Amino acid sequence: MLRFTTPILALMLASQVAFAQQETRPLRVVLDPGHGGHNTGAIGVAGIHEKHLTLTMAKQVAALLEDAADVEIILTRTDDTFLELTERTDFAHKVDADIFISLHCNASESPEPHGIETFFLGVKGSDPEADLLALRENENAVTPAPATADPLVAAIISDIRRNGTMAESSDLAAIVQQSLIKSIPEAVSRKVRQANFAVLRHSGIPAIVVEVGFLTHPKEGLLLANTDYQARITKALATAIKSFASLTADEREAD
Ligand SMILES: [Zn+2]
Repeated sequence: MLRFTTPILALMLASQVAFAQQETRPLRVVLDPGHGGHNTGAIGVAGIHEKHLTLTMAKQVAALLEDAADVEIILTRTDDTFLELTERTDFAHKVDADIFISLHCNASESPEPHGIETFFLGVKGSDPEADLLALRENENAVTPAPATADPLVAAIISDIRRNGTMAESSDLAAIVQQSLIKSIPEAVSRKVRQANFAVLRHSGIPAIVVEVGFLTHPKEGLLLANTDYQARITKALATAIKSFASLTADEREAD
Protein backbone atom coordinates (compact mmCIF):
# COMPACT_ATOMS: atom_id res chain seq x y z
CA MET A 1 0.00 0.00 0.00
CA LEU A 2 2.76 2.39 0.96
CA ARG A 3 4.36 2.08 -2.45
CA PHE A 4 1.21 3.48 -4.00
CA THR A 5 0.30 6.12 -1.47
CA THR A 6 3.73 7.72 -1.14
CA PRO A 7 3.92 9.03 -4.72
CA ILE A 8 0.33 10.24 -4.45
CA LEU A 9 1.16 12.06 -1.23
CA ALA A 10 4.25 13.51 -2.84
CA LEU A 11 2.16 14.73 -5.77
CA MET A 12 -0.41 16.25 -3.43
CA LEU A 13 2.33 18.02 -1.48
CA ALA A 14 3.93 19.28 -4.69
CA SER A 15 0.65 20.72 -5.91
CA GLN A 16 0.07 22.37 -2.52
CA VAL A 17 3.52 23.96 -2.66
CA ALA A 18 2.87 25.17 -6.21
CA PHE A 19 -0.48 26.58 -5.10
CA ALA A 20 1.12 28.30 -2.09
CA GLN A 21 3.75 29.87 -4.32
CA GLN A 22 1.09 31.37 -6.56
CA GLU A 23 -0.58 32.87 -3.51
CA THR A 24 2.58 34.66 -2.35
CA ARG A 25 3.56 37.89 -4.05
CA PRO A 26 7.26 38.41 -4.78
CA LEU A 27 9.56 40.28 -2.41
CA ARG A 28 9.93 43.77 -3.87
CA VAL A 29 13.51 44.94 -3.37
CA VAL A 30 14.73 48.46 -4.01
CA LEU A 31 18.42 48.17 -4.74
CA ASP A 32 20.21 51.49 -4.47
CA PRO A 33 23.57 51.94 -6.22
CA GLY A 34 25.32 54.51 -3.99
CA HIS A 35 26.30 57.95 -5.31
CA GLY A 36 26.09 58.98 -9.00
CA GLY A 37 26.63 61.97 -11.27
CA HIS A 38 28.90 64.62 -9.70
CA ASN A 39 28.95 62.57 -6.50
CA THR A 40 31.63 59.98 -7.34
CA GLY A 41 31.77 58.39 -3.89
CA ALA A 42 35.15 56.92 -3.00
CA ILE A 43 37.88 56.78 -5.62
CA GLY A 44 39.87 53.57 -5.49
CA VAL A 45 43.48 52.57 -5.87
CA ALA A 46 42.66 51.27 -9.34
CA GLY A 47 41.20 54.70 -10.24
CA ILE A 48 37.70 53.23 -10.13
CA HIS A 49 34.85 55.42 -8.91
CA GLU A 50 32.52 53.98 -6.29
CA LYS A 51 29.49 55.33 -8.21
CA HIS A 52 30.37 53.21 -11.28
CA LEU A 53 31.10 50.07 -9.30
CA THR A 54 27.88 50.24 -7.27
CA LEU A 55 25.85 50.69 -10.47
CA THR A 56 27.60 47.79 -12.25
CA MET A 57 27.04 45.48 -9.29
CA ALA A 58 23.41 46.51 -8.76
CA LYS A 59 22.67 45.77 -12.41
CA GLN A 60 24.36 42.37 -12.06
CA VAL A 61 22.25 41.48 -9.01
CA ALA A 62 19.10 42.52 -10.92
CA ALA A 63 20.16 40.36 -13.90
CA LEU A 64 20.86 37.36 -11.65
CA LEU A 65 17.37 37.60 -10.13
CA GLU A 66 15.52 38.51 -13.31
CA ASP A 67 13.86 35.10 -13.60
CA ALA A 68 13.29 34.56 -9.86
CA ALA A 69 9.55 34.21 -9.30
CA ASP A 70 9.72 35.25 -5.65
CA VAL A 71 11.85 38.40 -6.05
CA GLU A 72 11.37 41.66 -7.90
CA ILE A 73 14.34 44.04 -8.09
CA ILE A 74 13.92 47.75 -8.79
CA LEU A 75 16.97 50.03 -9.02
CA THR A 76 16.93 53.63 -7.76
CA ARG A 77 19.12 54.58 -10.72
CA THR A 78 20.13 52.76 -13.90
CA ASP A 79 22.62 55.34 -15.20
CA ASP A 80 25.17 57.84 -13.91
CA THR A 81 22.56 60.15 -12.37
CA PHE A 82 22.87 62.03 -9.10
CA LEU A 83 20.11 61.33 -6.61
CA GLU A 84 19.62 62.99 -3.23
CA LEU A 85 19.60 60.52 -0.35
CA THR A 86 15.98 61.46 0.41
CA GLU A 87 15.01 60.78 -3.23
CA ARG A 88 16.27 57.22 -2.79
CA THR A 89 14.09 56.51 0.25
CA ASP A 90 11.15 58.39 -1.28
CA PHE A 91 11.48 56.14 -4.33
CA ALA A 92 11.28 53.03 -2.12
CA HIS A 93 8.05 54.41 -0.62
CA LYS A 94 6.64 55.26 -4.03
CA VAL A 95 7.12 51.77 -5.45
CA ASP A 96 5.92 50.19 -2.18
CA ALA A 97 9.13 48.23 -1.62
CA ASP A 98 9.42 45.48 0.99
CA ILE A 99 13.11 46.05 1.62
CA PHE A 100 15.78 48.65 0.77
CA ILE A 101 19.44 47.79 0.11
CA SER A 102 21.94 50.57 -0.53
CA LEU A 103 25.14 49.35 -2.15
CA HIS A 104 28.49 51.03 -1.38
CA CYS A 105 32.25 50.58 -1.31
CA ASN A 106 34.27 51.71 1.65
CA ALA A 107 37.21 54.10 1.84
CA SER A 108 39.71 55.19 4.45
CA GLU A 109 42.42 57.83 4.88
CA SER A 110 44.68 54.92 5.77
CA PRO A 111 45.52 52.18 3.25
CA GLU A 112 45.19 49.53 5.98
CA PRO A 113 41.46 48.92 6.59
CA HIS A 114 39.85 46.22 4.47
CA GLY A 115 36.89 43.88 4.62
CA ILE A 116 33.14 43.71 4.23
CA GLU A 117 30.53 45.20 6.56
CA THR A 118 26.77 45.63 6.58
CA PHE A 119 24.90 48.35 8.46
CA PHE A 120 21.44 49.07 9.73
CA LEU A 121 20.31 52.32 11.30
CA GLY A 122 21.56 53.37 14.71
CA VAL A 123 21.31 56.67 16.60
CA LYS A 124 25.03 56.48 17.09
CA GLY A 125 27.48 54.26 15.27
CA SER A 126 28.64 50.97 16.76
CA ASP A 127 32.04 52.67 17.12
CA PRO A 128 33.79 55.94 16.08
CA GLU A 129 34.78 54.38 12.71
CA ALA A 130 31.12 53.68 11.89
CA ASP A 131 30.27 57.30 12.78
CA LEU A 132 32.96 58.55 10.40
CA LEU A 133 31.75 56.30 7.60
CA ALA A 134 28.15 57.51 8.03
CA LEU A 135 29.39 61.12 7.90
CA ARG A 136 31.21 60.43 4.64
CA GLU A 137 28.31 58.54 3.05
CA ASN A 138 25.93 61.31 4.19
CA GLU A 139 27.93 64.04 2.45
CA ASN A 140 25.07 64.86 0.09
CA ALA A 141 22.39 64.53 2.75
CA VAL A 142 20.03 67.45 3.19
CA THR A 143 20.45 67.07 6.94
CA PRO A 144 23.98 65.95 7.77
CA ALA A 145 24.33 63.27 10.41
CA PRO A 146 25.30 64.76 13.75
CA ALA A 147 28.27 63.28 15.59
CA THR A 148 26.21 62.85 18.74
CA ALA A 149 22.87 61.15 19.31
CA ASP A 150 20.20 62.85 17.23
CA PRO A 151 16.75 63.16 18.88
CA LEU A 152 15.07 62.98 15.46
CA VAL A 153 16.82 59.73 14.59
CA ALA A 154 16.12 58.46 18.10
CA ALA A 155 12.40 59.09 17.48
CA ILE A 156 12.56 57.32 14.10
CA ILE A 157 14.34 54.39 15.71
CA SER A 158 11.82 54.05 18.54
CA ASP A 159 9.12 54.05 15.86
CA ILE A 160 10.76 51.36 13.72
CA ARG A 161 11.48 49.31 16.86
CA ARG A 162 7.77 49.35 17.60
CA ASN A 163 6.77 48.06 14.18
CA GLY A 164 9.50 45.40 14.08
CA THR A 165 11.39 46.97 11.20
CA MET A 166 14.54 47.25 13.31
CA ALA A 167 14.65 43.51 13.99
CA GLU A 168 14.02 42.75 10.32
CA SER A 169 16.74 45.20 9.25
CA SER A 170 19.12 43.45 11.63
CA ASP A 171 18.11 40.03 10.23
CA LEU A 172 18.49 41.22 6.64
CA ALA A 173 21.92 42.68 7.45
CA ALA A 174 22.99 39.38 9.05
CA ILE A 175 21.83 37.31 6.06
CA VAL A 176 23.62 39.60 3.58
CA GLN A 177 26.84 39.73 5.61
CA GLN A 178 26.90 35.93 6.08
CA SER A 179 26.30 35.31 2.40
CA LEU A 180 29.10 37.69 1.37
CA ILE A 181 31.62 36.16 3.76
CA LYS A 182 30.62 32.64 2.71
CA SER A 183 31.20 33.56 -0.93
CA ILE A 184 34.42 35.47 -0.19
CA PRO A 185 35.93 33.67 2.82
CA GLU A 186 39.30 35.35 2.32
CA ALA A 187 37.75 38.78 3.02
CA VAL A 188 37.74 40.08 6.57
CA SER A 189 34.26 40.24 8.10
CA ARG A 190 33.85 43.62 9.76
CA LYS A 191 30.45 42.25 10.81
CA VAL A 192 26.99 43.73 11.05
CA ARG A 193 27.10 47.15 12.67
CA GLN A 194 24.89 50.16 13.22
CA ALA A 195 25.40 53.74 12.02
CA ASN A 196 23.42 56.89 11.42
CA PHE A 197 23.14 56.70 7.63
CA ALA A 198 20.82 59.36 6.18
CA VAL A 199 19.73 56.93 3.45
CA LEU A 200 18.39 54.54 6.12
CA ARG A 201 16.22 57.12 7.89
CA HIS A 202 12.53 57.30 7.00
CA SER A 203 12.67 54.08 5.03
CA GLY A 204 9.84 52.54 7.08
CA ILE A 205 10.89 49.12 5.77
CA PRO A 206 13.85 46.84 6.53
CA ALA A 207 16.80 48.83 5.21
CA ILE A 208 20.55 48.24 5.10
CA VAL A 209 23.78 49.70 3.71
CA VAL A 210 26.26 47.13 2.37
CA GLU A 211 29.92 48.14 2.15
CA VAL A 212 31.42 45.43 -0.04
CA GLY A 213 35.07 46.34 0.48
CA PHE A 214 37.64 49.13 0.73
CA LEU A 215 38.53 50.81 -2.54
CA THR A 216 41.48 52.41 -0.75
CA HIS A 217 43.15 49.13 0.27
CA PRO A 218 46.03 48.21 -2.08
CA LYS A 219 44.84 44.60 -2.57
CA GLU A 220 41.09 44.83 -1.97
CA GLY A 221 40.87 47.98 -4.11
CA LEU A 222 42.33 46.03 -7.06
CA LEU A 223 40.10 43.01 -6.39
CA LEU A 224 36.99 45.22 -6.44
CA ALA A 225 37.96 46.35 -9.95
CA ASN A 226 38.15 42.68 -11.04
CA THR A 227 35.02 41.36 -12.79
CA ASP A 228 35.36 37.82 -11.33
CA TYR A 229 35.53 39.27 -7.82
CA GLN A 230 32.54 41.51 -8.56
CA ALA A 231 30.63 38.43 -9.75
CA ARG A 232 31.32 36.67 -6.43
CA ILE A 233 29.93 39.68 -4.57
CA THR A 234 26.81 40.00 -6.73
CA LYS A 235 26.08 36.26 -6.58
CA ALA A 236 26.30 36.42 -2.77
CA LEU A 237 23.95 39.42 -2.69
CA ALA A 238 21.46 37.64 -4.97
CA THR A 239 21.61 34.51 -2.77
CA ALA A 240 20.99 36.59 0.35
CA ILE A 241 17.99 38.33 -1.23
CA LYS A 242 16.55 34.93 -2.25
CA SER A 243 17.05 33.63 1.31
CA PHE A 244 15.31 36.66 2.80
CA ALA A 245 12.47 36.23 0.29
CA SER A 246 11.87 32.62 1.29
CA LEU A 247 12.22 33.34 5.03
CA THR A 248 9.57 36.07 4.82
CA ALA A 249 7.31 34.45 2.18
CA ASP A 250 4.45 33.91 4.65
CA GLU A 251 4.34 37.68 5.30
CA ARG A 252 3.47 38.26 1.65
CA GLU A 253 0.70 35.73 1.28
CA ALA A 254 -2.26 37.12 -0.60
CA ASP A 255 -5.36 37.87 1.50
ZN1 LIG B 1 29.33 55.20 -0.64
